[in-house]
Amino acid sequence: MLDNIQDHKIKTRLRISLYLQLVTVLTFFLVVSCRSFATQNHYRDQPLYFLAVLSLMLAYLLFKGSLFKWRFALLLRLYRLIDLLDVLTVSFLYYHGHFPVNFLLALYLIVIFLSTREIKPGETYYVMLLSLAGLLINLILLWPNNTALSRELGYTSLSFVFLVFFALSSIGLIGFLAASYSSTDRQLTSSLQRMLKEKEDVLKEIYLTQADLEEKYAFSYTLTLIQQFLLEEMDEENLLTNSTDIIQGVLGSFTCAIFGINQNNQIEILSFSGKDAPALLKVVNQKDSLVAKTISTQSIQDESSASPEELEYWQSQGINSLVTVPLVTKTETIGVILAANQQKFSFNQEQKEQLMIIANQVSLALENTRLHQETKIMAWYDSLTGLYNRNYMNIFLFSLFQESSNLLLSCIIFDLDFFKVVNDTYGHLTGDQVLAKTASILKKYSTQDRIVCRYGGEEFIMLGLNHQTSELAVIAETIRQEIEMTPFFVTDDQPLHLTISCGVAGLPEHASTISDLLVRADQALYQAKNSGRNLVVVYGQK
Ligand code: GH3
Ligand code: MG
Ligand code: MG
Repeated sequence: MLDNIQDHKIKTRLRISLYLQLVTVLTFFLVVSCRSFATQNHYRDQPLYFLAVLSLMLAYLLFKGSLFKWRFALLLRLYRLIDLLDVLTVSFLYYHGHFPVNFLLALYLIVIFLSTREIKPGETYYVMLLSLAGLLINLILLWPNNTALSRELGYTSLSFVFLVFFALSSIGLIGFLAASYSSTDRQLTSSLQRMLKEKEDVLKEIYLTQADLEEKYAFSYTLTLIQQFLLEEMDEENLLTNSTDIIQGVLGSFTCAIFGINQNNQIEILSFSGKDAPALLKVVNQKDSLVAKTISTQSIQDESSASPEELEYWQSQGINSLVTVPLVTKTETIGVILAANQQKFSFNQEQKEQLMIIANQVSLALENTRLHQETKIMAWYDSLTGLYNRNYMNIFLFSLFQESSNLLLSCIIFDLDFFKVVNDTYGHLTGDQVLAKTASILKKYSTQDRIVCRYGGEEFIMLGLNHQTSELAVIAETIRQEIEMTPFFVTDDQPLHLTISCGVAGLPEHASTISDLLVRADQALYQAKNSGRNLVVVYGQK
């Protein structure tokens, strides 16, 4: 903007200098023409001289005018030269003019400078000094001709002195005005510049704050998505893989790994993205490794706290900056996130903070999946035998029924014979061991479509999807025999044997609904018990 003001000033100065020079040339021409009729004419005897001066001035005027019109960019660079030529022209006219109006020529320059104010500070004073010097030279040259001029133009000494005084005071006054305007200009410009700078600084600050805010907002938005995504993931393996991918994406890191602590207190790799895992595992299990330090101090670490040997190892793997963050739950440290990059010092404070926030989310999500897993085990499995419980069996049957209504499903209900006696004779603990052993035998016969559940007490159930009743009856018989042959425990040097009764029924062969099927199997079991126990009875068969 200031450059534009400068260009505008130069342009105005050149334009005014052109107009005033035109006026000067015309005045020169008129005065000299008038004086050519006078008796004692200075130029009448030298018409060639007069013509030369006039043509020179016209040529200069035309040169300046054409530059102004066609080559203004050049003029902008040459304006100093033009200023100098202008001053030289005026001095030349002073010297060679030899007429009293010359006094006013000095004003002409001042007027030019006044009209545009100073382009370079202090130039008005130089021009004023030059004008005064020119005027002085002019006076010295004119004084000797004063008498002749007075005679010729009717000037008195007094009017001549008055003219000199007028010229001097005009130059002084206009020069003073021009200089003071220019200094006001300068002050104004500098305060404007200061204001602009201040404004620019404020704008820059606002811009930076805004950029910072936008970045923070973007991160918090990403974080919300990450949070949502991680908390919805209930599979631990998927959660860990997704977490390393997310961190790698957010930090733009070369590699990212999540380490856990196994039962032997060894650090193991749980998931990674980027650089291969075995290479990472090589150093992390050393006592003073960054990962070990992160676990023991429960605080964030970076390459600056790594031992020289560890650092050397990382560098040999092409890694020059590292950051490790602990994964902590309310009660313990469950692992460490490691992010690494090839460039030196590539993780700034903000990124480290972001990693800590994400690590908190990952810890929370991990805790969540582990809890979910535990709850699932508690809800679906029987804690004594490790078999599915009745709850799971109901869910399984419900989902089966939802998938298809034309089910081919057979079931066996097992009930240990005289189990109460075991409890009463050897105690509940022994009873429990018998139940666990029975379960382990039953488990051997379970497949993907043949599941075994603890139905309650010492009763078990086997559901055979796509199994004919006869098929399942064969399996029931095999199990019955195996149990009969199994020594459950040794007492008084005698192995104790138990027997089991089984009731078998099938869908749609014996029932139309699942609850009917269970009732039929139970009825078959009842029949087995009534028929002397240690038997397999298929519903409806005697
Ligand atoms: P039978 O079935 O041959 O008619 O005789 P039983 O003695 O097995 O009779 P019943 O089915 O009535 O007895 C089941 C016993 O199982 C009663 C209960 O104390 C015992 N029981 C149930 N659940 C558990 C358990 O979790 N642990 C132990 N030790 N005993 C259990
Ligand atoms: Mg029973
Ligand atoms: Mg029983």
